[in-house]
Amino acid sequence: MTSSNSKSLGSCDDRQDRLVLLGTKGGPSLPCVNRMLPASLLEIGGKVCVVDCGLGVTAGIVAAGTRLVDIDYIFLTHLHSDHVLELGPLLHTIWTSGRQQQVKVWGPAGTGKLVDRFRESMRFDIEIREMDEGRASFRDTFEVTEYTEGCVLASCLEVNALRVAHPPVTDCFALRFDCQGWSVTFSSDTCYFPPLAEFSRDTRILVHEAMLTSAIDRLIARAPNTTRLREHLLASHTDASDAGAIAAAAGAGLLLLNHLVPADPDIPDQAWLDAVRTQWSGDVRLGYDGLEVKRID
Ligand SMILES: [Zn+2]
Ligand SMILES: [Zn+2]
Repeated sequence: MTSSNSKSLGSCDDRQDRLVLLGTKGGPSLPCVNRMLPASLLEIGGKVCVVDCGLGVTAGIVAAGTRLVDIDYIFLTHLHSDHVLELGPLLHTIWTSGRQQQVKVWGPAGTGKLVDRFRESMRFDIEIREMDEGRASFRDTFEVTEYTEGCVLASCLEVNALRVAHPPVTDCFALRFDCQGWSVTFSSDTCYFPPLAEFSRDTRILVHEAMLTSAIDRLIARAPNTTRLREHLLASHTDASDAGAIAAAAGAGLLLLNHLVPADPDIPDQAWLDAVRTQWSGDVRLGYDGLEVKRID
């Protein structure tokens, strides 16, 4: 594992740039499979990137038409389980799919341990496959780098991180990807955080988390043992209207509402969009699993 930010890697090629939202539900529960947990696929500058690895990420990538062996980079915005629970299974399945080149994994402090302990938990299987099937070394297939705020990757594809406000988690980062005039910014999980607007300045796509505060009480009523949940949600997530305010201040080209809380199918799509419209008159779409946005110059 390495711990330095700002690595220069490779060059860009002609793969069609696109973003696919794989999982758009916030929080660790899985009441239905209409919305899986946070994960996105970003193909930019010839690199295949995965951003967060919530439950469903592996199948989501395949469903989006991308081969697991083609994944180059994996980024984790923070270590809440809804964003990382399927990291290990994704790595393992990339490995058994026959990935030859090393996959780079970037995450906040603790990511190295997360991968090490997953590998240890799967030691029986990994060792037997390396020996019996002659597979490449699992350990050598993945390089983990723990990043912090600032430049994460400086190459044709540039990736920058901004520490956002997601108490009590301190290592939680928005990520901005820039390559050849196209840019996509992920807010990660955060309360309303005005510095995100400057970080997202003129981004083509802003993928921002969104909460519908008016529906939170309904969520709380359904969830047992959650006396502090409402308090946590209000302190660490962003109302959809404020996501609109960030998009407006940033001058974003398109706002995608993501990490929906509550992800209640009874809430009409229009309720989310109406909340955004109080602050933002530009292009906005309510995220759903499988939503694809292609680069249009
Ligand atoms: Zn989350
Ligand atoms: Zn979180």
